[in-house]
Amino acid sequence: ARAGLVAGNWKMHGNLEQNEALLAKVVAGTRALQNAGCAVCVPFPYLAQAGALLSATNVAWGAQNVSQHEQGAYTGEVSASMLTDLGCRYVIVGHSERRAYYDETSELVADKFRIAQSHGLTPILCVGETLAQREASETERVVAEQLDAVINTAGIEAIARSVIAYEPVWAIGTGKTATPEQAQEVHAFIRNRLASNNEAVAAKVQILYGGSVKANNANELFAMSDIDGGLIGGASLIAEDFISICLAAQ
Ligand code: 13P
Repeated sequence: ARAGLVAGNWKMHGNLEQNEALLAKVVAGTRALQNAGCAVCVPFPYLAQAGALLSATNVAWGAQNVSQHEQGAYTGEVSASMLTDLGCRYVIVGHSERRAYYDETSELVADKFRIAQSHGLTPILCVGETLAQREASETERVVAEQLDAVINTAGIEAIARSVIAYEPVWAIGTGKTATPEQAQEVHAFIRNRLASNNEAVAAKVQILYGGSVKANNANELFAMSDIDGGLIGGASLIAEDFISICLAAQ
């Protein structure tokens, strides 16, 4: 069976003092975690702090974005080698907020995925449909397009060295969680699409659900056969809630 994984996406939240308290609690609360991993994806300025507080603990750390370029005159950007330099294990690519607010296309996301992997990072590839797309029965078409762009660029074997996160846009930050059945349906679709390319890769890759995961709904979501854990926004900022969600993925 696949190990579980719970990753926090702090988004643009935090400060040195709050982060220190939050991370200390998360480290203590996940010390006994078995058969599941835990990670936090923090804003760039706090990666060094995360590294200092989390090295030699059960909690991995990562970033929320990466440049598609190796290096160069790209003011304001952060490269994959900088992330590995700071000890990152993970980097989120293709979050719906970046697709929507920063015009990230699936092709750009695929380039970010590839450069992250070439530096030994594990990309957490986010896919998911908007409410309008779901209501127009376009969920599978949208998710397939987002997935295929990465498979076409990086190759199907590369998917085995990544994590996929299904995050329906209508469930993010809205308190409207997908039901376990709704989520499972899309997770199974993703795994079947991967299996049609390579069954071993499909069986191996962790597929996380994201979108209003809370301490009181994590158990039923993670009980579904193709849901291997969660990508957690708001609840990852509250130590007790995030710890409960991590423990639910065991
Ligand atoms: P919420 O858990 O706040 O809905 O955010 C989900 C998300 O976007 C994680 O990447």
